[in-house]
Amino acid sequence: MKQGQLSESAPLVDPACYAAATAAIRAEATRLLETGEVTAVIGYRAGRRAGSAMPEVAATVETAGQLLFSPGCQHNLVLFLSKSKRDVLPKGKVAIVVKGCDLRALAGLIGESQLKREEVHVIGVACPGVYGAGADHTRPLSTDGVARKCRECKVHLPEGVDLIAGTLPELHELPALEAQELARLEALTPQERWAFWTEQFSRCIRCLACRQVCPFCFCTQCLCDRNRPQAVDTSPRPAGNTAWHLVRAMHLAGRCSGCAECERVCPMDIPLNLLNRKMAKELFELYGFEAGMQPQEQGVLTSYRDDDDQSFIK
Ligand code: SF4
Ligand code: SF4
Ligand code: SF4
Repeated sequence: MKQGQLSESAPLVDPACYAAATAAIRAEATRLLETGEVTAVIGYRAGRRAGSAMPEVAATVETAGQLLFSPGCQHNLVLFLSKSKRDVLPKGKVAIVVKGCDLRALAGLIGESQLKREEVHVIGVACPGVYGAGADHTRPLSTDGVARKCRECKVHLPEGVDLIAGTLPELHELPALEAQELARLEALTPQERWAFWTEQFSRCIRCLACRQVCPFCFCTQCLCDRNRPQAVDTSPRPAGNTAWHLVRAMHLAGRCSGCAECERVCPMDIPLNLLNRKMAKELFELYGFEAGMQPQEQGVLTSYRDDDDQSFIK
């Protein structure tokens, strides 16, 4: 990790490292499809706008040759293994391109019996970072453009994968903005925190993009859509909004992999990953549990140990 100041707009890494990962992904995807080892490779291809990327399910050698890795590859592709697995997996083994943060979601889904490790060929990428909100995708990745989660990343090199595409360049140490934001939140009184979240939730328009993009929101019928009986008011009013966010936070506690996709797609700029991180921190402090580091048969909130912390029972 490089120490020292880097100007806000200076490139964080040599863009050639993304090109090297791209070449390795294309070579591996082509080999897998040519040998018939997999029926498809879930990866990224160039998006319509300059510098952006979009998911691609490559089933031919031609489309495998269009796969890439760039700072625009923000999406967590593991989403495609939970929601559409019923269509994809019965056709045979698939390969998937994952960043380290996405791999945690894959481990979580294996732990929840959504798929088996042997059903997927995992192409991990050596990932220096991706663009964050508002970044100019036509410029190389820089300090002011990198996603906040990447500033605190501990999984640049995914472990336990079948292949690592690319090599990791030396990285600069960057200020941990998410940790600072969490510390500011924790310094508030309970009343101030409640006021903070009430204000944030009040902006929610219930578009449900956060749910649709989440690998762990795979219930065939979401409790929050049910109307007989109705558990949560579905219109974007304060009471229903608060209920929606609290229900979702509890449903994802101990499961959320911290990919921050929900926050990235939220059109109302609600700091959803701040809530996710707070829940994750509480679970770590209470139970020493960190979601998705290893596939686990039972999540922390669905299992019981005699020595579990009981201090929350008053
Ligand atoms: S959090 Fe880490 S693995 Fe994920 S995109 Fe950022 S740098 Fe890559
Ligand atoms: S994406 Fe944002 S606005 Fe849409 S439902 Fe989720 S929190 Fe609300
Ligand atoms: S809740 Fe958000 S951060 Fe957590 S796994 Fe789902 S999309 Fe990713």
